[in-house]
Amino acid sequence: MLPELLQKTSLFRLLFVIDSDLAARKREERCPHCGGPLHKANYRRKPRGGPVDIPEQYCIRQSLCCGNEGCRRRCSVESCLFIGRRVYWRSVVLVVMALRQRRPDSLSAGELVRMFGISRKTLVRWFDYFEKVYAGSMEWQRARGRLSSCVADERLFGSLLEHCLNHAADALSGLVACCRLLAVGT
Ligand SMILES: [Zn+2]
Repeated sequence: MLPELLQKTSLFRLLFVIDSDLAARKREERCPHCGGPLHKANYRRKPRGGPVDIPEQYCIRQSLCCGNEGCRRRCSVESCLFIGRRVYWRSVVLVVMALRQRRPDSLSAGELVRMFGISRKTLVRWFDYFEKVYAGSMEWQRARGRLSSCVADERLFGSLLEHCLNHAADALSGLVACCRLLAVGT
């Protein structure tokens, strides 16, 4: 069920709409460095793991940049579509990690390679990072504050996704809510 969701363009459209809204709200603020006006400075990405025919308009990392000559600094905007500089979509990383951490029938690296076509090397890097380092990140600590204390850090995405799916009307909205919770903490 979850892997099929990642092939739905509607998932990425919904996340794109949230990202656009986050960027629009941020644009109403001023540059944190000099108080200048903020302008759009989006950039195109070529994310992996989603539908092959995804419209290019959704492959945009929303970003802002100060309009003051002499400052021009970038101002980051939270993103439900992307997770840092990773080339895979946030939702893809989330689902893969959740399947890896699912209890009692978690999937092995080999099974995930076959299902998603992601290289073993990349997967091992994700397991390492998201099971050991990410638990201490600001992003996770903020999301974790919204969950009950029975959620275990060593299976953070598994627990979080389970929680979101249990509280949503359908799986698609559960996955969207989960991406949003990680990106913005609400
Ligand atoms: Zn500035």
